[in-house]
Amino acid sequence: MNWLIKLWAVFVSYMLGRSGKPQTQGTGESGQITTGAPATSETPPTLSLPHPEEPMNPAQTVANMDIGAVMTEWLTQRNVPQENRDYFKNGIEIEVYDAWPPDKIASGTNPNTPAMTWQVGNKRYLACLAKWLNVGVIAHEQAHNSYALLTEDEKAEWKSVYLDIRESDPLIKYLFKINPYGLTNEIEGHAEIGRYIGQSMSESLRKYYPKLF
Ligand SMILES: [Zn+2]
Repeated sequence: MNWLIKLWAVFVSYMLGRSGKPQTQGTGESGQITTGAPATSETPPTLSLPHPEEPMNPAQTVANMDIGAVMTEWLTQRNVPQENRDYFKNGIEIEVYDAWPPDKIASGTNPNTPAMTWQVGNKRYLACLAKWLNVGVIAHEQAHNSYALLTEDEKAEWKSVYLDIRESDPLIKYLFKINPYGLTNEIEGHAEIGRYIGQSMSESLRKYYPKLF
């Protein structure tokens, strides 16, 4: 009967091996996982960002690019509501440079910063280096412009909801694992989720992106 015991030992170690396999995070969540096959223990679902990072384009300059076209591409790809498109395209002052001008460098802008937003009075500004102007960078910066529309109470509420969901949402965990920039603070986290996850973010987060959804 030794062979039977051996067979049983082989079977048990096989089953232990199967259950001990590392699981891809997020199995079982719906609507946020891209997988080509039904999820089973044989084919764990793999996570992927709905909007992966676009490469910087060193050949793109103020002279040879169409800023309006990139803005339109962003509005379309992210399905920004029609009634809010004018706000994001024309209500915000947009500046594009081949290199940051001396006054911006003098006021502390890192020469390698791809883009930024700021506010003077009630007016929002968005500036970007031409080589970095793409849909993803626009999505990040426009998330900042959307965040600026939140009240102080809503910003505090976002911080608490965000710090909580960041520990449990598989796609957000995955995003910050491969690109931890969003962990800088809750405002950069807001912009990075808007950029890379966009419309696929959890329903509970969408209300913190006024005018974008
Ligand atoms: Zn930012």
